[in-house]
Amino acid sequence: MNITFPLICCLSGIIGLIVGLKWPRKLPTFSDKGKIAFLTGFRYLLSNEPDRAIEAFTKAVQLDTDTVETYVALGNLFRDKGEIERAIRIRQSIMTRPHLDRQIRLQALYDLAIDYKKGGFIDRAIDAFKEVIRQDPQRVDAYLELASLYQEIKDWEAAFKCIKELAAITKDNYSLMLAHFKTEMGKVSQREDLGKAEKLYKEAIKINKRCVDAYLHLGDLYLAKKNVKKALDIWLEVIKNASDYAFLVYRRIEEHLDKLKAEEALKKLIKYLEKMKRCDLWSCLILARYYHRKGDFFMAKRYLKEALTEAPQYTSARQFLAQILLEEGETQAALEEIKKLAKTSTLERTFQCSQCGYEAHRLSWKCPQCGNWDTIKPKAA
Ligand SMILES: [Zn+2]
Repeated sequence: MNITFPLICCLSGIIGLIVGLKWPRKLPTFSDKGKIAFLTGFRYLLSNEPDRAIEAFTKAVQLDTDTVETYVALGNLFRDKGEIERAIRIRQSIMTRPHLDRQIRLQALYDLAIDYKKGGFIDRAIDAFKEVIRQDPQRVDAYLELASLYQEIKDWEAAFKCIKELAAITKDNYSLMLAHFKTEMGKVSQREDLGKAEKLYKEAIKINKRCVDAYLHLGDLYLAKKNVKKALDIWLEVIKNASDYAFLVYRRIEEHLDKLKAEEALKKLIKYLEKMKRCDLWSCLILARYYHRKGDFFMAKRYLKEALTEAPQYTSARQFLAQILLEEGETQAALEEIKKLAKTSTLERTFQCSQCGYEAHRLSWKCPQCGNWDTIKPKAA
């Protein structure tokens, strides 16, 4: 087999990307046999045959014990196969080498941290990422990995601090993530200290005005403190500024509508809903409930019919319409609605991540697949 140097140069770049290796400017020195084993390994790697690649790389390290790059590739392969302990041993053997290039040593430490993370050794992974950052404060990837570990163990304060430092270094906008961390801190505080929780939710909103979760929980907190007016006012902000998530507010208002004794704030909200060009299905139900409570059955039925024209399978709206018809003594019309009810299924909301396409039946602020915040949106009803 005649393998030329330019081929190694070309392949090294591609393979560097595949194995997540920062390729050094100076290429490793191979013996002829080592070179063949090394490239054979990469060929298997490219054709997605990890076991054969491991075999070839193992041969290459036996032939050329000094070539760090082969060890790195081998470590990554073991990690990908879930053989974490072997991967860790390889990183450690790289790091103990004397006269090792600083960047390669740092990358081995980073890889070791990833191995720890994958192996579930969270504390060790945290310490290793911290050390990477200490040695190179510009390592954005290490900050992000560290923050993701803090999120995993729900240490929101540490996650906040970590991303705040990263934002200061990169000048990039991480405000939504930071606002979510503050909100999570608020949720933890709410169990014992409402005042502290309120302060944290307000701080979250100040950091990023689009953090819907903070508004929702601040509203819940006001409701718990029996301050209905403040709760409605804060929820109205969600309807106005984040209409994609308005259904979360509608759900809360609907649940508490009969208990909400804050006529002025409620009127303000109803007025806003009616002013919207087109009511969405869920706001129609709120309006119907509001008018029903006031004894205005005509308006209540109007909004329910509006919702049902658009979504005939909207069970809650049809049930409510049948109830109103019964209350009015329109038994026959009520029965008709109940018959239709039997033929329909519940209108179910589904959600999808705009970044990775992940689909779910429940809303999560953080996508469980790609880890992004606020990328999961309701799909059109
Ligand atoms: Zn996603």
